[in-house]
Amino acid sequence: MNDYDVVVVGAGPAGTSTARWAARNGASVLVVEKRQEIGSPVGCGEGISRSWLDSVDLKLDSRSVACQVKGAKIVSPNGTPFYLSEHMAGNEVGLVLDRVFFDKSLAKLAAIAGADIMLKASALELLREGDAVVGVKIRSFGETREIRCGCVVGADGFESQVGRWAGINTSLAPKDITTCLQYRLTNIEHEHEYCQFYLGSVAPGGYVWVFPKDEETANVGIGVGLPRLKEPGEVKGYLDRFIESQPGLRKGEPLDIVSGAVSVCAPIDRTVADGVLLVGDSARQIDPITGGGISNSCRAGRVAGEVLAQAAEKGDFSAESLKAYENGWRDLLEDHLYRNWIAKEKLVTLSDETFDKVIETLNDVGVESVSTLAILKAVEKRHPDLVKEFQEFL
Ligand SMILES: Cc1cc2nc3c(=O)[nH]c(=O)nc-3n(C[C@H](O)[C@H](O)[C@H](O)COP(=O)(O)OP(=O)(O)OC[C@H]3O[C@@H](n4cnc5c(N)ncnc54)[C@H](O)[C@@H]3O)c2cc1C
Repeated sequence: MNDYDVVVVGAGPAGTSTARWAARNGASVLVVEKRQEIGSPVGCGEGISRSWLDSVDLKLDSRSVACQVKGAKIVSPNGTPFYLSEHMAGNEVGLVLDRVFFDKSLAKLAAIAGADIMLKASALELLREGDAVVGVKIRSFGETREIRCGCVVGADGFESQVGRWAGINTSLAPKDITTCLQYRLTNIEHEHEYCQFYLGSVAPGGYVWVFPKDEETANVGIGVGLPRLKEPGEVKGYLDRFIESQPGLRKGEPLDIVSGAVSVCAPIDRTVADGVLLVGDSARQIDPITGGGISNSCRAGRVAGEVLAQAAEKGDFSAESLKAYENGWRDLLEDHLYRNWIAKEKLVTLSDETFDKVIETLNDVGVESVSTLAILKAVEKRHPDLVKEFQEFL
């Protein structure tokens, strides 16, 4: 007898979204989370757009939103800004969240739908009978327990172990990892109506972001491509030098520090196995250009939950039965992730001079949207030489 149809490992946006949709559609679900508080500590820039919220039936309460912005300001290495309105600015611009509340509000929806939640409960390993996965072993408050279920969901983030335990290859090449550091800085002066992105050698292979939390406070962070870092602590040097170069930020004081990594890889080959499913960062569903993963986690989580509920009804959690999830999330996200990965591979090779020319051109000719294609077409009008390497997109 199973204790639950589904055990979800991890109560981030991917895990609680999966739990919510699985429970809402009739599956019995347990979420196990190793931390003692959902959403804390925050490891995120907290930028999202509003565009996808309806697709997962999500209405944000006022405490989950720290700040609403008009759009994005993208700054070239020579300091030239390019402004984009919110609806053109892509998946990470529009709202700056308070993830401590946001993650909890997602967990609340999962609980209301009927999911059980256990905190301070670390998944240790998969339970197997022969080759079959029949549950998960957890440790909570000093006690080890075995929980039997039809499917274990790995929603355990960037450093996912569930995928590894299940033999799903989620390994990343160094070039597909971006190392991040962020300070929440207060007592600053900044354009708090925009999410700001700084491009070029200020953050090799990545970018610097300044996402407003309020008029005096922002998440000021950096992502640098892992191969560009030779020594520990170098990423801090980049971020500190950037802050020092900005008069409005220089006098700021930190309220917290976040360090972490994001995957910026192409979609992986497989996200299900018999009795196991991966979702969110553990399934490498992050956008390879922006490093944003909240929206994709919630959207893939809905597909996962719905498929898991159907699997529970059939009593079949085989990889074949879970293939509907594999196909479903790929229909939603894969093209975009793949194209952005190819574009990222090229973007990390561009010089500061090229970024300057691109931003200058976008200011002159404008763009209709911020898709890779629209930007390349705009740049092609003025500098066909610059887009030679991107011909496959045009
Ligand atoms: C510095 C930084 C800035 C970012 N900025 C943005 C941004 O501005 N916008 C955006 O959209 N995305 C951003 N991201 C990415 C975003 O944070 C992730 O994509 C998102 O949190 C993914 O959700 P998830 O549920 O897959 O994983 P997570 O949110 O990482 O949740 C995984 C959960 O699993 C738990 N867990 C792990 N192992 C176990 C275990 N063995 N047992 C039990 N529980 C376990 C963890 O404690 C955690 O709570 C940023 C990431 C970083 C590192």
